[in-house]
Amino acid sequence: MSPSAVVWDPALLGYDLGGEHPFNPVRLHLTIKLATALGVLEDVPLLVPEPATEAELYRAHAAEYLEAVKQAPMASWNVGHGLGTSDNPIFTNMHEAASLVVGSTMLGARCIAEGKARRAVNIAGGLHHAMRDRASGFCVYNDLSVAISWLLDNGFDRIAYVDTDVHHGDGVQAAFYGDPRVLTISLHQHPFTLFPGTGYSSEIGVEGAEGSAVNIPLPPRTKDAGWLRAFHAVVPSLLAEFRPQLLVSQCGVDSHEEDPLADLALTVDGHRTIYRTLRELADTHADGRWLAVGGGGYQLIRVVPRSWTHLIATVLDRDVDPETPLPAEWSDLVREAAPRAELPLSMTDGGDTGFAPWGDGLDDAVDVAVRDTRRAVFPLHGLDPDDPRD
Ligand SMILES: [Zn+2]
Repeated sequence: MSPSAVVWDPALLGYDLGGEHPFNPVRLHLTIKLATALGVLEDVPLLVPEPATEAELYRAHAAEYLEAVKQAPMASWNVGHGLGTSDNPIFTNMHEAASLVVGSTMLGARCIAEGKARRAVNIAGGLHHAMRDRASGFCVYNDLSVAISWLLDNGFDRIAYVDTDVHHGDGVQAAFYGDPRVLTISLHQHPFTLFPGTGYSSEIGVEGAEGSAVNIPLPPRTKDAGWLRAFHAVVPSLLAEFRPQLLVSQCGVDSHEEDPLADLALTVDGHRTIYRTLRELADTHADGRWLAVGGGGYQLIRVVPRSWTHLIATVLDRDVDPETPLPAEWSDLVREAAPRAELPLSMTDGGDTGFAPWGDGLDDAVDVAVRDTRRAVFPLHGLDPDDPRD
C-alpha cells in the first residue's frame, strides 16, 4: 500500500482572523508540536502546499466574490459577501491565506488521485461553511468544495463526504446539492440550537439527486455513546450502498464537551473512535482512499491538539494509546505561552465509547433523529429505514 500523506506548512498559520477570534491558528501549531513530541510524525515527510490558483477557486466560488476578498483589506466599508462581520473579519492577506488553505486540501486530493498516497490528512483544511459568493462561519474559501469538484474532473465520480464537525456542513452540501456523484453526510448539533441553522433530516438533495444529502441533527448534550449510535445507524449502510471511490471527511472537534461554542458532549476518546471508524469504512467501502481534514474546534489547548494528533496518527496507522502521558516537552511549551491553562495529563479523557446499536425502539431524542434521517433517505438508496439490519 502507498504511504499516507501529511500536508503541513507553518505558512498555514497565516489564516488568522485576529484578536480574540476563536478560530485561532495556535490550535494547529500545538497539534503539530504534540504529534511531533509523541513521535507520530517521525520520518514522515510533510508535504508543503502552494496556494490554490484562481482557476481552482472558481470551481466553488464566483469571480465577483474572489474580487471582493482580494479588495477587502484595502476597502474601507461595506464589502458585502459576509466579509467584515465579527464571524468573518477582514485581515491582511486574506485572499492569499485562504487560497493556501484551499491549496493544502487540494494537495492531499492530488496525492490520492495520482496514486501517490492512499490516505491524506490536512488539519488546516475543513472550511465547510464558505459559500459560492460569501464567507460564513469563519470560512472564506471552501477547500472541500474546490477539492471535491477537482476530484470529480480527475477520475472520481462517486465521492462520499462525511462531516463530523458540531456544525452542519452547509457549504459543501450546497455545492453538491444537485449532484448525485457526491454523497454528503453531516452529523451535527440540531439547527434549532446552533449556527448555521440548517441540516434538518428533510434536507435530502434536489430532484435528480434526492438522497445524496444526508443530515443527522443531534440534540444538545449528546455524548459519545449517542453520537456513535447515530453514526452507526446511518453511515455504514449508506456507504455500503453508495460504494464511493474515495471518502472525504471533515473532522471538526467542536463536538467536544468542553468546546466553548457548542453543546454536544463528546470526549477526545469519542473523537479517536470516530477516526478509527472512518478509516475502517474507507478501507471497507472506498478501496482505502481517505482524505481527512480538520475543521472547527475552539478548546485550543485541552482538546484540539490531542484530538487531531489522534487523527494524524490514525491516518498514518500509528494509533496512539489513549493512556499515553502528554510529553513534558509539549506541556512546557504550552505553559510558557499560557501559564494558567489547566493541561490534560494524557491522551484520554477517560471517555466511554461503548454504545448500544440502534434498534427499532425510540429510547430518546437521538433515536428520533436517527429514525427521521433513515426514513428521509434510506428508501432512496434501496434500504429499509425501519429494519435495524440495514
Ligand atoms: Zn464547527
